[in-house]
Amino acid sequence: MHIEKLHKRFGALEVLKGVSLTARDGDVVAMIGGSGSGKSTFLRCINFLENPTSGIIRINGEDVKMVSDGHGGLHPANRRQIERIRSRLGMVFQNFNLWQHMTLIQNVIEVPVHVLGMKRDEAMVIGEQLLERVGLSAKRDVYPAYLSGGQQQRGAIARALAIQPRVMLFDEPTSALDPELVGEVLRVIGDLAEEGRTMLLVTHEMKFAREVASHVIYLHNGIIEEEGPPEALFGSPKSERLKQFIRTVS
Ligand code: ADP
Ligand code: MG
Repeated sequence: MHIEKLHKRFGALEVLKGVSLTARDGDVVAMIGGSGSGKSTFLRCINFLENPTSGIIRINGEDVKMVSDGHGGLHPANRRQIERIRSRLGMVFQNFNLWQHMTLIQNVIEVPVHVLGMKRDEAMVIGEQLLERVGLSAKRDVYPAYLSGGQQQRGAIARALAIQPRVMLFDEPTSALDPELVGEVLRVIGDLAEEGRTMLLVTHEMKFAREVASHVIYLHNGIIEEEGPPEALFGSPKSERLKQFIRTVS
C-alpha cells in the first residue's frame, strides 16, 4: 500500500496536508496523534469513504484512478475499481458497528455471501473458524446487543477478516471500550500482527503500538510531524510536540 501526498479539505479547513505512507506486505504501521489531527480522515480516504482533494493512492499495486469532481477535489473514476479495492481492505471502526439485526455469524458471512458471491456453506465454515480464532464460537447465534463491547469488537474483527483482506485498517479499535475489555481486543490484533498481516492501526495505546508496529507515524494538524521505528519514536522522540504527546497519553 502506497499513499503519496494525500490532501483533504473540508471547505476552508485543510485536514490533511500532504500525508505519505508506504506499507509493504507484513508491515504494521501505527498512526498516533491528538484528537482532530486527521487520523480518521486519512483512513477514510484510503477506503474512499471520503474523496481526497489530491494525492496518489496505490493499493495492491493498483493506482486508484481519480478524476476531478468539479469542486476542486477528486473522486474515483471507476466504481468497479473502488469496489474491487474495498473488497480487499478490512476496516474496523471505533464503535464496533456490527449489524444489530443480525446474529454474529450472520454478520460475518454477510459480505462474503451477498457481495463477494461466496457459497453460503463455504462462508459458514470460514466464518466459524474466524469466530473460533477471536474466541467467540459460543456466541455465533447471539445478537450484538447481548455481547460486551470487547466481544462485539472481536466480532467486528472476524467480520473484517471474512473478506480475506490484503490490508486491515483499524481506527482506534479499543478507545470505546471499558478498560477491562481492552486487553482481549489487543490480543486479537496482536495475533494478527504476529501472523504477518499488513495493517494500518490508529491507536492511543502507546505501549501496544510500541510492541506490534514496524513503523510509527505521528500526525499533528494533518502533517507527519515525526515517523520512524517504534524504538526511535517512543525511545528518543525528536519533536517537542511528540514528546509532550507521549507524556499526555501514557
Ligand atoms: P482524528 O481522527 O485524528 O481525531 P479526524 O480525521 O476525525 O481527526 O478529523 C480531523 C478534522 O477534520 C477535525 O477538525 C474534524 O472536525 C474535521 N472533519 C472530519 N470530518 C469532517 C467532515 N465530514 N466535514 C467537515 N469537517 C470534518
Ligand atoms: Mg479519529
